[in-house]
Amino acid sequence: MAKIKPIYQTLAICLDMYGCPNRCQHCWLGDLPNNRSSESIDDYIVNLFKPYFKDVTFYSWIREPDFTRDYKARWVKDNELSTVKPQRFELASFYKIVRDPEYVKWLKEVGTNKVQLTFFGLETLTDKYIGRIGAYRELIAATKILKNNEIEPRWQIFINEENKDDVVRLLDVAKKMSIKDLFVHEGSCDGNNRNLYDIRINKKNIPDEVKTHYLNFEQVLSERECIDILKTDESYFVPTNNKEIILYITSDLNIYYNFTNPSPAWKIGNIKDNIDELVRKIVEEDVPALNLAKKIKVSELVKLYGDRNSDKVFSLNDFKMFLLNNYLVDKDKS
Ligand code: SF4
Repeated sequence: MAKIKPIYQTLAICLDMYGCPNRCQHCWLGDLPNNRSSESIDDYIVNLFKPYFKDVTFYSWIREPDFTRDYKARWVKDNELSTVKPQRFELASFYKIVRDPEYVKWLKEVGTNKVQLTFFGLETLTDKYIGRIGAYRELIAATKILKNNEIEPRWQIFINEENKDDVVRLLDVAKKMSIKDLFVHEGSCDGNNRNLYDIRINKKNIPDEVKTHYLNFEQVLSERECIDILKTDESYFVPTNNKEIILYITSDLNIYYNFTNPSPAWKIGNIKDNIDELVRKIVEEDVPALNLAKKIKVSELVKLYGDRNSDKVFSLNDFKMFLLNNYLVDKDKS
């Protein structure tokens, strides 16, 4: 084999080896298939990419971390496969926290000081949006278990038009449970959350009690305000990688960047493709979505897909991605 010059760049590979116990209605990854990968696929994929990159970090999950029977061995293996060690990101499996008493102790051992837990209001709505009866009770139980083991729980709360009053009631629960780290936000508008566009929270309807807990509330814009900023924007919205390239590999071995949800236009290729060509596409960012993004100005996207009557809340970049994905879906249909 010809000697390949390593690319001076770190590649993070996130492989969806074990799926997720939840089916969240806001999941920005969409409804990925819940297949289990073969146990040897990790070595195969890492060895495939290692000659091309200076460093590789391997994660055996994209969705719920540690959602596998032997999470301890899994973490060791992820570290062994990586030349730059994987991070914990203040994430953990609440499904496991409430089922396996050893797990929280292990979280502590691997240096976890904080774990984020996601709510949608009280029991009925949280269960509905996480897609599993019992999810709310598990989240409350997990909060207590974490606290008892000196790991701080951080509550992430998604708000929309359906659950906004429940979110206020959840803030009372948080107060009673002395939750110190908590934030509310609308979430991006891709993946499954895109299907919730119609009930996206209106800026004028964010309850006063919620505003002080809202993530970067000063920067939150309505769709109308986004449009006013972007309607004369002659640039192109083309997401790009920084020094580190992060790849999401689904259980069907299709490869995507971590820019937005996996969908046909964003597919870079499949692990079974020719590896030289695959690496070229990855490094040169040669994917249909980005090639199309270079051909349409932001002002044109706004004209095609923006709704000036909408008070729905967005961050500016989430709105640009929402517009671009609308365009890509239309292109896919045509
Ligand atoms: S949002 Fe997270 S926990 Fe929910 S389905 Fe998606 S990956 Fe799983």
